Formats: sequence, structure tokens, C-alpha cells
Amino acid sequence: MFPEGKLAFGPPIENGFYYDFDLPRALTPEDLAEIEERMKAIIKGRYSFEYRDVSVQEAKEMFAEQPYKIDQIEKLASGEEDEHGEAGSEPVSEMSIYTHHKFTDLCRGPHLENTSQIPANAFKLLNVAGAYWRGDENQQMLQRIYGTVWPSRKELKKHLAWLEEVEKRDHRRLGKELDLFSFHEDAGAGLVYWHPRGARVRGIIEDFWRARHYEGGYEVVYTPHIGRARLWETSGHLDFYREGMYAPMDIDGMDYYLKPMNCPFHIKIYQTKRRSYRELPMRWAELGTVYRYERSGVLHGLMRVRGFTQDDAHIYCTPEQIEDEVVKVVRFSLRMLEAFGFESVTAYLSTMPEKAVGDPARWDQATEALKRAIDVIDLPYQIDEGGGAFYGPKIDLHLRDALGRGWQMSTIQFDFNLPDRFDLKYIGPDGMEHRPYMVHRALLGSVERFFGVLLEHYGGAFPVWLAPVQAMLIPIADRHNEYAHRVAAELKAADLRVEVDDSSDRMQAKIRAAQMQKVPYMLVIGDREVESGAAAVRLRSGQNLGAQSIQDFAAMALEAIAEKRDL
Ligand code: ZN
Repeated sequence: MFPEGKLAFGPPIENGFYYDFDLPRALTPEDLAEIEERMKAIIKGRYSFEYRDVSVQEAKEMFAEQPYKIDQIEKLASGEEDEHGEAGSEPVSEMSIYTHHKFTDLCRGPHLENTSQIPANAFKLLNVAGAYWRGDENQQMLQRIYGTVWPSRKELKKHLAWLEEVEKRDHRRLGKELDLFSFHEDAGAGLVYWHPRGARVRGIIEDFWRARHYEGGYEVVYTPHIGRARLWETSGHLDFYREGMYAPMDIDGMDYYLKPMNCPFHIKIYQTKRRSYRELPMRWAELGTVYRYERSGVLHGLMRVRGFTQDDAHIYCTPEQIEDEVVKVVRFSLRMLEAFGFESVTAYLSTMPEKAVGDPARWDQATEALKRAIDVIDLPYQIDEGGGAFYGPKIDLHLRDALGRGWQMSTIQFDFNLPDRFDLKYIGPDGMEHRPYMVHRALLGSVERFFGVLLEHYGGAFPVWLAPVQAMLIPIADRHNEYAHRVAAELKAADLRVEVDDSSDRMQAKIRAAQMQKVPYMLVIGDREVESGAAAVRLRSGQNLGAQSIQDFAAMALEAIAEKRDL
């Protein structure tokens, strides 16, 4: 179809594959249909996949017309990059090549024997997206065709239905439909504007979070959003994290940076006094808004932003307290996630990497404490040997959402670096100075991303306790408006979030609108309801509960809220 087209990379990915092309024009949906037809013809042709190794020189001649292939051959041959794009690997002297019919490509393989082994009715080309050569925004923009392929048509259909559901639940789409948040260029990319309804939900999450923390023995702190260069030099961020930080601003002739992390600020509070072992453990939590300069190409709705609010906390404790503290924080985290409806959680334990700071004995003790915590709580887990950060081992908790997708949420991370850098101390029972253990932990991760995951998990239909509007009052005619507003006032007084749809729309349209907004309860009010002091209650599931007194309805809703039930 495009004899002059240039081929780039085309690897398999989860549930399918893609291929990047440099083409003279943008592909259309009609092109994809035609490509699919040609793929079917190739499948039917029973062409065998033939493998051979060729020398670098031979490969360069074969792909003389293909600049991206030449680039890749040179990178492989020089060892500058391996097939995965990892730098610094062994130079390759032979190139692995596969040919079928008239098509030859660089490929590691292995392949099927011939094209007819691919079920012709079980693949589909999904869409075309822009992608930079080697993911580098300074390089050529290519067209990436995504496709999916399955062993049978039935499995393909199942996957397509799942993709449709994923798209329907896309938090960026729901954010618009439900009027929850937006982004605007005048704040720069990746900074969120929370609309009233989104802010409601966020407020409920944060109130709940704060209450749970006080219950769990934490104190809440607030710290500034900017810090002097000196602070970030001491913490090391200007050494190892400068690229992730926003450019400095000059205030009174000194450089200040927006904070990418809260830790150094909490340390400053720790250092305002001499600390005794009697004060430990200290657990300080903050909904701390941080700023990280992510490349614009990687930003994604609420999932990847430049300004976000970590549900951060730092725990300072003695060596004797460490096991207990870790068990507590993992339990605390699970209870928190469970309250939001996430029950399928897996732990990932990352241990000491080759390059690490801190006393190895402390690493051992901390890693053992993390293992013990997972054992005690009986969580399924995997170990990532050597996968820890240079400053300490950690546990990440991953959860599975309603669509079966995994998300990393909680992180519980030891730090043997900052206590040394800031020379943290406490006075032990022996009257001597000791170095405390320091643990960073975020349970929801960031409030923004958590909100995005939650939104997709529920498809926008939040359980009653989180719903921005819990009940919509729907007067059938204008003459019912006054009663509806009176009922609304009564329900608000009972701490329910309600609104009255007193627009001039017809009842069915009002019900449809509330349904679209995924409001849990709709209270329809007509002559009969006004007379009897009641409301006809309808659930967003479509179920009709019939006429209920206002008190009965309020009691039912409050019970669902208290139990954090769906409805
Ligand atoms: Zn921290």
C-alpha cells in the first residue's frame, strides 16, 4: 500500500502488538480495514516464516532503503543498545532475520511455522497513534498501528468488549461527563483544576484519610511548597533528582525550588528539638502537594501529572520498634484500601540493590521486618531481588480494579540516606545519641491518581459515601418545587448531599439526567408524595423502591453511607 513507507519497531505487547511506520500520509480507518484484508490474504497464503542470521554488513545492504532499521542495526552492532533499548550491552555481530512471502524484517523470533497458523478471524487492528522514533520527542513522529490477536474469535470478542468497557470508564472521559475536573494550558500541562463535584469527592477522601490517621496514631502536619537550594543540597535532591524538579525561582537573591517531595520538611520539624526515645515512634502525615517536572509526552490525565498531593507520612522509630511499625503500617494500608472497595492486593518486596547506601546490618533488619510483616498479614507477595532504591528496601502494594487491571498504590519505603544526610538523632535510654529509623509511606499514592483509579474502578458510579450528589430530588411539575426544596433542606440537615432538579424538563428527562450523573438515589415527587409527605425512591440501578417517608429514606441512605455500601 505504501512502497515508500519506512519501517521502525514492531514488537509484541500485552494482548497484542504494534508496528511503527513512517508514511507519506496519515492513515485513516479505511486504511486499517484494507490492511486487515491484506493480512487475511497473507494468512491464507500459508507462507512459511524463514529464519536466518546475517552479518552486520549483509543486514545493512538488505535494509539499505530503511533508515530506521539501519539505525537499529548500528546500535545493536556497536552494543550501544540491545533489542530492549537498554544501553551498554554486548555488541552483536549477527543479525537475526525473518522472511515470509515478500517481507523481511529484523526480528529475534521465535515465530510460528507459517502464516496460516494465525486464526484469520481472531485479530483486529485497533487504532493509529503518534509515536516518536525511540520515544524521543526530538526525533521523527511516526504512525503506530496497534493490533490485537487471540487464539479464537470468541476470545477476541471478549477482549474487544473489555476494551470498550475500559474506554467507557476512561477517567478523562468521565471527568468531563460528570463535571469533576479539567486541565488548562495557563497552569502548564499536568496541573489539575478540581470542579465543585470533583472537589467534593476529593474532600471526602481527605477527611476520611485524616480521621483514620488520627485514629491510627498519626499526627498531621502541613509544610511549605518551596524550599531553598541549601535544603535540596543537604537532602541530595539537587544531585540525584534535579531533572525531576521545576526550575528554581529567585526570591531575595536566593534560589528556591518547588518541592518534589515532603521528606526534608518533616525532617526539619523533627530537628526543632532534641528527641528522646520516649517520643518514638513518631508518625507524621501530610497531604503534601509536590511538583515534579515530567516530560509532557508522559503526562496522562490524573494518572501522571506534574503537581500532585501525596498522602505522605514519615515514621521515625528505634530499631526495637521497627517490626511492629511495619506490620502496623501494612495493616493500616490494607484497611484503607479496603474501605474504598479494593480487596485484591499483592505485595512486592524490593531488596538491596548493588549500589546502596547505609549499614548492611540495617538493610538486613529492615528487609526482614518487611518480610515478617507480609508473613504475619498473610499477603500474597513477590520478591524483587536487588530492586530496592539505593537508600532502602521497600514494599509496594498493588491492587486489582473492577476490570482486572493492576495498579501500584501503597509504598512503604525505608530510608538509610536522609537520616545520615541530616544527621538525625534521638537520645536513647542509655543517655547516648542514636540514629532513628526513617520510613516513608504513601498509601493512596497521590490523591489525584487515586481519584483517577477510583473513578475508573467504579465507572463513575461512586458508592453512596463518596458520591458528590447522593440524592437528586425530581419534582414532576412546578407546583412540587417548593415541597422538594423543603425535603432537600431536611435531608441536608441529616448530612446528606442532595440537589433539586427544578428545571422545566419533563420527569423522564430529569431521571435520565440524574442517571447519567450516576446519582445513587432519585426521589421523584408528585401530588401523591406531597400529600403523604413522602417521595418515590428510585435507585441508579433502575430499581424502584416505591414511596418512602423522608425519614425512612434518610435512615436507609445513612446506613449505606455508614457501611460504605454501593447503594
Ligand atoms: Zn518521604
